[in-house]
Order: sequence, then C-alpha cells, then structure tokens
Amino acid sequence: MAILQAKQAPLINVSAAPLIQARDVTVVYNGETALDRLTFTVQPGDQVAIIGPNGAGKSTLIKTLLGFIRPSSGAVNIAIPRERIGYVAQNEAVDWNYPVTVQDVVMMGCARRIGWFRPPRREHWDLVHAALERVGMADLRQRQIGELSGGQRRRAFIARALAQEAELLILDEPFSGVDASAQASLMDVLDQLNAGGLTILLSTHDLDLAFARFSKVMALRRHLIAFGDPRAVLTADTLAHIYGHRVMTWQDGQEVAVFVDEHHCENCPD
Ligand code: ADP
Repeated sequence: MAILQAKQAPLINVSAAPLIQARDVTVVYNGETALDRLTFTVQPGDQVAIIGPNGAGKSTLIKTLLGFIRPSSGAVNIAIPRERIGYVAQNEAVDWNYPVTVQDVVMMGCARRIGWFRPPRREHWDLVHAALERVGMADLRQRQIGELSGGQRRRAFIARALAQEAELLILDEPFSGVDASAQASLMDVLDQLNAGGLTILLSTHDLDLAFARFSKVMALRRHLIAFGDPRAVLTADTLAHIYGHRVMTWQDGQEVAVFVDEHHCENCPD
C-alpha cells in the first residue's frame, strides 16, 4: 500500500499581505453559473493545486485571475502588476510547425522590456539563458519548439514566464498528456522555483501529487468546497462531495491517499 507523505507546511509570514484576494467571485456564462461566490486568499510563496472534476470551474477561475474573464460579480485583487504574472496554458496558441526555437519562445517573455521592433540586447539573452538553465532546458535552446515533448514544452513556457520575471506562475493542467518521468521533472522544477520564492497556482487531476507536493489545495465544484492544508482538504468527505461516489480513499493516521475515477461535473448542486 502506497503511503504518501504530505508536503511540510512552509514557514509563511502570516502577516504578509495576500498576493491574491478573491471576494465573492461569481462568473456566469449565458445564464449558467460556472463559479459561485468564491472567497479566498493566496499568500506570497504558496504553492496551490486546484482540483475538481471536469466542468468544476478550474479553467474559468484561472482565466478570471488572469483578467481574461471579468467576474459577473465580486472582485479579484492581485497585489502585483499584470506583467509579473506568468501563465502556462493547457494548449498554447502556437503553430507547432512554425520554425521558432526554444530560446525564441523564451525571449517572448522579455518582449515588454525590449520594446516593440527592437532587437534583443545582450542582457535579454542572458535572462533567457538563465531562465532556460533554471528549468533544465539550456541544452535544448536551439531546438525547434515543435520538436519538443509535452513536458519539455511546458518547461519552455515556464522559462518564458521566468524571463518575464514573473512573481506568480499560473498553469492550467500542466501535467495532462505528460508521461510520469516528465511529470516528475516538471514537478521538481516547480518545487525549486517555489523554494526560490515564486508563488505557484495550477489545476490538476492528480490528487496524489496535490497531497504530497503542494502547500495548499483548493477543492472546487462551482463553489469553493474546501481550501487549505492538503491534509485538511483531501478528506473522504470533501472528495465524495466534489467527485460523487466514484472515489476510493484509504487513511493512514492523518494522511490520505486517493485515487479517483474522474467524471464530469454535471448538475453540480447549487
Ligand atoms: P474545468 O476547467 O474545471 O473543466 P471550466 O472552467 O472549463 O471547468 O468550465 C466550467 C463550466 O463553465 C462548465 O459547465 C463549462 O461548460 C462552462 N464554460 C466554460 N467556458 C465556457 C464558455 N466560454 N462559454 C460558456 N460556458 C463555458
């Protein structure tokens, strides 16, 4: 039986001002409520996994935090400028056949600093190379982006966020379609960046990972069902609430290991 060790709670300065403050955030699409009065705060240095079945509102929440969607009511306050938020989409709007190298993609993170129609300078290339080093991709910098594996692409887009000098990194299901070893190296990169002070917020279906590697878990099903320490959130009750009955859990003391047969959030309760 696999026993998972929960991630140690980080030493958080509880008096620090929140990085994200969401208050009663509601998003309605064509009369359908996708997010219903979400209130939470994310502190600088948090590493947050958002979980919930398909249709629970994870992508909608991410797009709302990024400012792509305006809440129908409520408000989101983020204590840093928009350009300090890095985003790794689930499916980047990139033509994978277009001949662009990994370092070109990462250089896009410097675009604002370089200025329109100006060539990158030495300092920008140094930033790009440093960002690629941090995600373990320095030796692939000349590679065409379309030739990368799924995990390598994710790391290249994380490097773009680092070149942008992001303080908050938001990723939409970065582990989907990525094999186990690529997932492990991606998670190692995220852990190192988080240890260096980067606040990370991502959506995932991998509950084992959420339990073992994140400082906080947000359980979403249109409503905020639970948010906080993984050991407090990933309980049989919460999981049954968000995933229905197709949940197998077992407990070992305070620790809970979970496998879920994922299904769609239809007829979510109000
Ligand atoms: P998740 O990321 O958890 O799978 P989503 O945020 O994609 O959930 O979707 C939440 C709900 O909002 C779903 O019922 C989905 O069908 C609906 N939805 C998402 N995007 C749109 C959109 N652009 N227009 C209308 N409905 C949407």
